[in-house]
Amino acid sequence: MQSGSRSHKTFNLPKVAIIGGGVIGLSVGWRLAQAGCRVDVFERHRTGQGASWAAAGMLAAGAEAMPGEAANFELGRRSQALWSEFATQLERAAGQSIEYRTEGTVVTSLKKADQDKVRQQFEFLETRGARVSWLTGEEVRGREPVLSRAVCGGYFSSDDGQVNNRKLVMALRQAVGEAGGIVHEGQRVLGVEVTNGSATGVIADSGLAPAEIVVVACGLGSKELKIKDLMEIPMIPVKGQMMALSMGEAYLSHVVRTGDVYLVPRRSGRLVVGATSERGRDDDLATEEGLAALKNGVAALAPDLASLPLEETWAGVRPGTRDGLPILGSCTIPDLILATGHYRNGILWTPITAALVTELIVSGRSSDLLKSFSLNRFSGEWTKLKTALNQPSLTA
Ligand SMILES: Cc1cc2nc3c(=O)[nH]c(=O)nc-3n(C[C@H](O)[C@H](O)[C@H](O)COP(=O)(O)OP(=O)(O)OC[C@H]3O[C@@H](n4cnc5c(N)ncnc54)[C@H](O)[C@@H]3O)c2cc1C
Repeated sequence: MQSGSRSHKTFNLPKVAIIGGGVIGLSVGWRLAQAGCRVDVFERHRTGQGASWAAAGMLAAGAEAMPGEAANFELGRRSQALWSEFATQLERAAGQSIEYRTEGTVVTSLKKADQDKVRQQFEFLETRGARVSWLTGEEVRGREPVLSRAVCGGYFSSDDGQVNNRKLVMALRQAVGEAGGIVHEGQRVLGVEVTNGSATGVIADSGLAPAEIVVVACGLGSKELKIKDLMEIPMIPVKGQMMALSMGEAYLSHVVRTGDVYLVPRRSGRLVVGATSERGRDDDLATEEGLAALKNGVAALAPDLASLPLEETWAGVRPGTRDGLPILGSCTIPDLILATGHYRNGILWTPITAALVTELIVSGRSSDLLKSFSLNRFSGEWTKLKTALNQPSLTA
């Protein structure tokens, strides 16, 4: 399907094979099944146990986008606007809570130099129309009295929220089934079947599964898929170590972030603390060094929380791309759609990804928003790499 038009299938909704059962594959599968498509989701392990399980669940369009990252902010803002309805519909469909909340984020810093960066981020967001308000250090502590007296100014981003990402994946898994989709766990996909230049199915462990449309939604695994005549889908693993403390009573009412650490209070009394950012690392081991960095971050930001009992430690790997943006939409292979590379914002970007991909498949319309996220933006570097690899070696 090239940039959008599939009029031949408009009245006869296609059979869709989705590779990957994380938040992205499951949410796309749920929306497509709701729309009336026949959906099969192929997951090599158990659904939702990849990056989607490891995440903190922040829905932080107003805290994640850095100055200059307009496309990142726009996607986040558009997704944030969908989140409330998405959560209500999902909870109803799955019959379970996903703990969606919207109390906003406090972004602050402990050093003057960092405060300047926070100020620049605030100004960038303000010029893009985000609902953010500047806070003095005293006002930051007014919102969260447990924070250190050393906190400098920062800002409050009132449209931000959080969701319990582990409950989210479980609810999505349930909702796909309720809508008539089929989830195949323990089914690794090796590649995409391409016939006469178009995607016609997936080659799974159990053999060929024919489909009229194939969606690649397998995060880091996208890079390994064999797809004839498609450039490699470039993925950069970025490991993140996390821990959870047992907060008991509510010490914190909002998500609080500095450049070093973030604190995500769950209603259950669990305090999720994250995260390291280790580019190029793709293992999911929590290390003493990583956890010490998180503990030091908590001790500096909120000393009273540093002695809370440790509940859990874990690590996950973000499916990153070079520019930090996802890879979404059609590509050079007709009937192959990409929905991958959601890096550090895949939970936030879940509703918008599901909506854009569903629109593309069901009505054949390719939203203008997709233009910034095409795989094509990496094709120049891929061509260069291929040319370099084909040069005869000078040193033999
Ligand atoms: C520590 C950490 C903290 C994070 N915090 C946040 C946050 O607060 N807010 C936020 O918005 N985002 C956050 N993220 C990012 C977010 O978790 C990811 O962007 C998101 O989960 C990506 O979803 P996904 O479905 O693409 O990937 P995954 O959840 O990794 O799912 C991909 C699935 O595909 C399967 N798969 C792979 N290859 C194949 C194959 N060949 N065949 C079949 N199945 C295959 C995998 O087993 C996996 O289950 C965080 C990530 C990490 C690691």
